Amino acid sequence: MKAKKHLGQNFLHDEGVINNIVKIIRPKVGEKIIEIGPGHGAITQYIQASEADLHLIELDNDLIPVLTEKFGAAANVQIHHMDALQLKLTQGPYKVVGNLPYNISTPLLINMLYQSSQINNMVFMLQKEVVQRICAAPGEKNFGRLSVMLQHQFDCSAHLVIKPEAFNPPPKIDSQIVQLTRKEEVTKVSLPALEALVKQAFQQRRKTIRNNLKKQVTVTQLEAVGIDPSQRPETITVAQFEALTNVIEAEKS
Ligand code: SAM
Repeated sequence: MKAKKHLGQNFLHDEGVINNIVKIIRPKVGEKIIEIGPGHGAITQYIQASEADLHLIELDNDLIPVLTEKFGAAANVQIHHMDALQLKLTQGPYKVVGNLPYNISTPLLINMLYQSSQINNMVFMLQKEVVQRICAAPGEKNFGRLSVMLQHQFDCSAHLVIKPEAFNPPPKIDSQIVQLTRKEEVTKVSLPALEALVKQAFQQRRKTIRNNLKKQVTVTQLEAVGIDPSQRPETITVAQFEALTNVIEAEKS
């Protein structure tokens, strides 16, 4: 079957890499796992064998019969022919895993964030550059919108880098595994308000936080959470973005 570029299809064929991914996923008997984009089932077969309670989310019409033939008879597998961006989680907590189609990785991560009370753990293969952004610390050049949004709710750790040769067809870039574990204590904050603030804060990275947020925030509000108005956005911590969102929201009401 020819890989479909518009569905981000790069299928894993390197058994060593597949084993390493499964080790990071660590599926357990009865655990609720959602796999996004199972493809031909390269990772799926090992998760299924672990007797986890497995839900497969695949959009490609042509792959549904392939998955049904391989896993349709397994009592612990349910196949859902749907767009992962439309997922609404209700029976969690889930572990969400997948070698994600790179073209939907950012909207998918944001969708998962909004449903994070249903998730305790995520293990994804993404473009290496995206993983570096997710896991970056304040002050690092990759620290930005994705880092703040995901680190607000998850502890992030970057794992092995995977070379293009592990896939068929090979992508043009390196990939990397990221593990996101939901924090035991997540600071209470309005997620849409945090998302809007962070988007504006990083609008122009070379500008100061004061200039980027001129229309939304006063100097007094910045200083109230310990931010110097002349700081660049990438030097501001996740806790400061959370606190700033709460100050703005409190003063609105
Ligand atoms: N897991 C397989 C592997 O590692 O070999 C396939 C990974 S491939 C990078 C991405 C998979 O996601 C493909 O099977 C593709 O059809 C599927 N996909 C693409 N867009 C999707 C979407 N919006 N919702 C669900 N699955 C999608």
